[in-house]
Amino acid sequence: MSLTDTHCHLYWRKFDEDRGAVIQRAIEAGVTRMLVPGTTIETSRQAIELSETYEQVFAAVGIHPTDADDFPDDGLDELYKLAEHQKVVAIGEVGLDYYWVKDSEKQKRQKRLLSSQVQIAEALNKPLVIHLRQENNAVEGPVFDDFFELIEPWIQKWREQNHPLGLAPGTLHSFNGNAGLAAKGLERGFCLGVTGPVTYPKNEAHRQMIKNLPLSRLLIETDSPFLTPVPFRDKRNEPAFVCHIADKIAEIHSKSPAEIAEITTANAARLFAWGD
Ligand SMILES: [Zn+2]
Repeated sequence: MSLTDTHCHLYWRKFDEDRGAVIQRAIEAGVTRMLVPGTTIETSRQAIELSETYEQVFAAVGIHPTDADDFPDDGLDELYKLAEHQKVVAIGEVGLDYYWVKDSEKQKRQKRLLSSQVQIAEALNKPLVIHLRQENNAVEGPVFDDFFELIEPWIQKWREQNHPLGLAPGTLHSFNGNAGLAAKGLERGFCLGVTGPVTYPKNEAHRQMIKNLPLSRLLIETDSPFLTPVPFRDKRNEPAFVCHIADKIAEIHSKSPAEIAEITTANAARLFAWGD
């Protein structure tokens, strides 16, 4: 059985003591592919270094919306150069965050930075790993509306030009929107990333939403070291725990965990084009 973790921040300092052991444990647990997304130039570089060290690790490079403030305008050239690396399979983690950032000028800056990074994705034909977080973690609201308004013209243009991103623009990482927004994302060609909160007892509405999604468009991800799934909720998260997310989706969709592992691994391989 082969599992994929499409979102783990393995460069995080919480892994400094035992990073190699964490990756080894994941491989032993059957995790054959791990995608490490950067959030700054520095962590994007670290993600690439990990991908150079471990065959099973791939990188995404990008500036996270909560890091938009500190990002110099001339930093995009540097990001572009990093994005050209052969083990960089996506642009991310990029997006909009209105949970931490409530100032409207700063939100505008996030949107400009996101547009610039969508342009890099287009130029290099690498899909986007999108972070969207609404105030109070609401399942709808301006962060989703602003994102779709921003991405819509790109997707239309890509579809007209038969650019591959027109049908598979990327993934909405750790998606926590409502069913209507999920449908909108799917219609635009996005995959949806499912993380640990799907295992939390109180998240019945989230599970109901996931029950109605097509398995062919789901990715499973830990977002390590955050969002640890049950039964390890109080611990640091790590890629080996991705099986607990697969188990929960299997339960929701009345499939076997092995089927979910196989389907989500194939979905990720299709989107990130990293081979079997
Ligand atoms: Zn993340």
